[in-house]
Amino acid sequence: MDHLPVFLDVKGKKIIVDGGGTLAARRVERALDAGAMVHVYAEKLGEEFRELKNHPSLTHHTDAPQLPDFIGATVAYGATEDEERDRHLYDMANHNHVLANVADVTEYCDFITPSIIDRSPLVIAISSGGAAPIIARILRARIEAILPAAYGKLAAFSGRLRERVMTKLKTPESRRMFWENTIDGPVADKFLSGDPKAAKKQFLIELDAAALGQDVEKVGEVYLVGTGPGDPDLLTFRALHLMQRADVVLYDRLIGDGIINLVRRDAERVFVGKRPNDHAMEQQEISDLMVKLAKEGKRVLRLKGGDPFIFGRGGEELETLAAADVPFQVIPGITAASGCASYAGIPLTHRDHAQSCVFVTAHGKDGVLSLDWETMARPGQTVAIYMGRSSLDFLTEEFIRRGVDPNTPAAIVDNGTRPNQQVVKGTLSNLYEKAEAANLPGPALVIIGSVVDLSDTLNWYKNFETDKHTMSLSASVEL
Ligand code: SAH
Repeated sequence: MDHLPVFLDVKGKKIIVDGGGTLAARRVERALDAGAMVHVYAEKLGEEFRELKNHPSLTHHTDAPQLPDFIGATVAYGATEDEERDRHLYDMANHNHVLANVADVTEYCDFITPSIIDRSPLVIAISSGGAAPIIARILRARIEAILPAAYGKLAAFSGRLRERVMTKLKTPESRRMFWENTIDGPVADKFLSGDPKAAKKQFLIELDAAALGQDVEKVGEVYLVGTGPGDPDLLTFRALHLMQRADVVLYDRLIGDGIINLVRRDAERVFVGKRPNDHAMEQQEISDLMVKLAKEGKRVLRLKGGDPFIFGRGGEELETLAAADVPFQVIPGITAASGCASYAGIPLTHRDHAQSCVFVTAHGKDGVLSLDWETMARPGQTVAIYMGRSSLDFLTEEFIRRGVDPNTPAAIVDNGTRPNQQVVKGTLSNLYEKAEAANLPGPALVIIGSVVDLSDTLNWYKNFETDKHTMSLSASVEL
């Protein structure tokens, strides 16, 4: 390690920033945030100082800093981008034993300014030792994305309860064990799902039990998480956070490998796959299994393709959980109609084409089809049909029989948003034949309405073409 990582307490202490541009403004902002008395030296302060310059802890000097200015300072930043002036600042700082940092000039730096993720009081600082600041910045963006915004609040919440833990638990070892169990357990779950009151209650129960050396009865929880139609980049941050917390995951065929691989590595995996007419596990069995696992104290992740509340039987599964008093959370996902439409360049509504859009399923309970044809056949609307592949023949004929123009544009999007996405376009009268010819593997979504024509110009997702090409290439290599 080339540097010693420390977090300096600069509250009320003097910090010098030489410069009036963007670089200087960023350093001033950070120093003010940390409570320092900041002295900035610049003939003029740039636009970036607009919000900062009236800060009560900021003093603006129009001349350059002189040797006596460094007396009593903790840190000095050179950010003028004028090499000579910055070097002079470094010499003066050194002369006074003040730590100096000149932006982007390693040899004039006593310390590095790290990239930070600020969830105060929780702060993560990343440094590449000055070797590759861009890598540190990219990493910062990634951590920023995966770290729930409420983590800082969770840290503050824990901080407020520290005294109580100190009084109740006498040994450092017992306190460490207690914090480990609570901060990664139901207390944090409750807090991060937006219920600080319940989190505090649970915290106090666990603290009392720990003080008496007892175990608290563990209560698990079920996360019903929508994963979107397949492209892992379409997951929500919240979905990803819960995927990282799960102890056991229940998934089915609609969930792609790319998504399963993002689940916490040591979570147990249970395939509860359902293929049409080949139920690996009955719906009730799945719900019962979730209840059983949650009652064992596990964090159960139930992954659902698309959105759990759109043709996903999410409601049915939750009814069983509610009846058994198992706590749960539901995380929405991008539903297939949305994902497929976007990735096929078919706007579901458009002022010149469709003022409404209906989502229907061609699969009723026990496979019985009972569609509201009057609504479906209305003009000026787009119809998105889930699970419509196997009855496409019947569906398209029925639209025509109900008086819809046989030339109405229609499309079927197979494996939408995935690398092997295929879009077959036609009309009500020929879509079935075209889909048969394409021999689509599924899952597939049917879209009916004149908006389908817009994809001729709006179709932006080209991956599948290149992929199909490479797939056939690799197939021929195998042969
Ligand atoms: N809850 C899911 C739908 C489950 S029903 C959602 O909100 O998307 C399963 C049907 O969804 C499939 O038969 C198919 O019609 C559609 N579907 C799901 N993923 C799809 C995808 N990647 N491409 C095309 N259709 C998809």
